[in-house]
Amino acid sequence: MIMQTATRPNTYSLLWDNSQFFTGTDDPKITAAVEDVKDAIAILTTQCQPFTLLAELAEDVSPDDDTDLIGKIRTIHQQRTELNKKLGNLSTYIYTALSTNTQDPHASTWKPILQQLSAELSQALTPLNVFLTRASEVFISHLLADPALAETAFLIHHQRQLKDQLLSVSEEQLITGLATNGLHTWGNLYSELAGTLKCTVQGETMGLAKAANLLSHPESATRKAAWKGTRAAWETQQSAVAAGLNAITGWRLEETEKRAAQRKLHYLDKSCHQSRISRATLDALIETTYQQREIGQRALTAMAKAIGQPQAHPWDLMAPAPTQKEAKGDTENISFEAAIALIADAFNRLTPEMGDFAIMMAKKGWIDGAPTPNRATGAYCTKFSDPREPRIFMTYENTMNNVLTLAHELGHAWHNWVMRDLAPTQCRYPMTLAETASIFAETLVREALMEKAATPEQKLEIAWQDAQSAAVFLHNIPARFEFEKR
Ligand SMILES: [Zn+2]
Repeated sequence: MIMQTATRPNTYSLLWDNSQFFTGTDDPKITAAVEDVKDAIAILTTQCQPFTLLAELAEDVSPDDDTDLIGKIRTIHQQRTELNKKLGNLSTYIYTALSTNTQDPHASTWKPILQQLSAELSQALTPLNVFLTRASEVFISHLLADPALAETAFLIHHQRQLKDQLLSVSEEQLITGLATNGLHTWGNLYSELAGTLKCTVQGETMGLAKAANLLSHPESATRKAAWKGTRAAWETQQSAVAAGLNAITGWRLEETEKRAAQRKLHYLDKSCHQSRISRATLDALIETTYQQREIGQRALTAMAKAIGQPQAHPWDLMAPAPTQKEAKGDTENISFEAAIALIADAFNRLTPEMGDFAIMMAKKGWIDGAPTPNRATGAYCTKFSDPREPRIFMTYENTMNNVLTLAHELGHAWHNWVMRDLAPTQCRYPMTLAETASIFAETLVREALMEKAATPEQKLEIAWQDAQSAAVFLHNIPARFEFEKR
């Protein structure tokens, strides 16, 4: 017994520790940091102002016209980098606080203020960005020869692809300014609703995050009740949701039209540019899901058969493998400690550094998974800017789905971690790349589980996860894509 106690893994906290940044959302240091950011934005605004005029003549500006021009851009870049660290820490602190408690009154107050500051920063930099997008190739090659600016090469070249869609400096600033209380407000409303809406599942009132986890309950009746409860909760908000979706789509169409004066644009072009993929790549991806749709249908049919139903219902998509129910009683029970050990083991097969990293994330309290009330739905990985530390948010309730979500988010965190010595401008990446790291990590865990599986029941459990992925990637995601397109 003594040996057992001694070798038991430490229990990790499932509440993250962000106290090194601020002591709470009411910390007076937040007010001071926000004031610093405002001052720094004012300075940048003044420094970037001369580029408004230069942007109009950008193609004719030669590096010899003003030998100090590159020096000025270098100063702006260095100040922006410092400012981004401060604003990054503030934004991450407030965003993560709101995820664990969507009702935090201080965080709810700070969130729009920080969004406003990000928009103001972006407006401050617009004259310079328009100038850099329009400048001649000669000027840009001189600029990037500067050792302090070389790190911006990728972002500048990427932005310059939009040369013929750019509006005037004042129009660009207007769009960014209006988006804060226009376009982005809908996202805030969604988070607010998703965090506060309550639903009733089998007589119990609960938040949507908890109901979402019940979609992987072993009892079909419970899953059905959670699915219906969630839908009923959202149905009370139909008008707000429809207004939001229509406004976002309307904004996109209007902006595309305004930018299409020189070249015909499709409303998907901007998303593709932001995702750093071509339209041909996007079309190939979607086309492939349609060609392989039958695999998803076969997976769903097989899953339905295994749980003793003639067909799969919407609430069965996240059902656990039927083996769980018989082997382990009512609920699957993979403790957080066991999940971390299992994931670290699988990551070790790629490199022990990755396995150690997973353990470190848990030990340092960088993962928040406790099923607290008023919690946001979903899972994500984010990072603080200074020092560069990742954080994972999810709702961990001991299921196999939770384990794979954790592995997925740890893949994102590892991706962040290995880049921590690169310049921040070199670490901005789109979701298309981000998901490669996370799905890779998830796959390592699936494969390790499959290899370890000794019995047909254990193999079924892993095959079950693959079947669910087939349904998600070949049906759920293409359906959402079609919905948005229409
Ligand atoms: Zn992901």
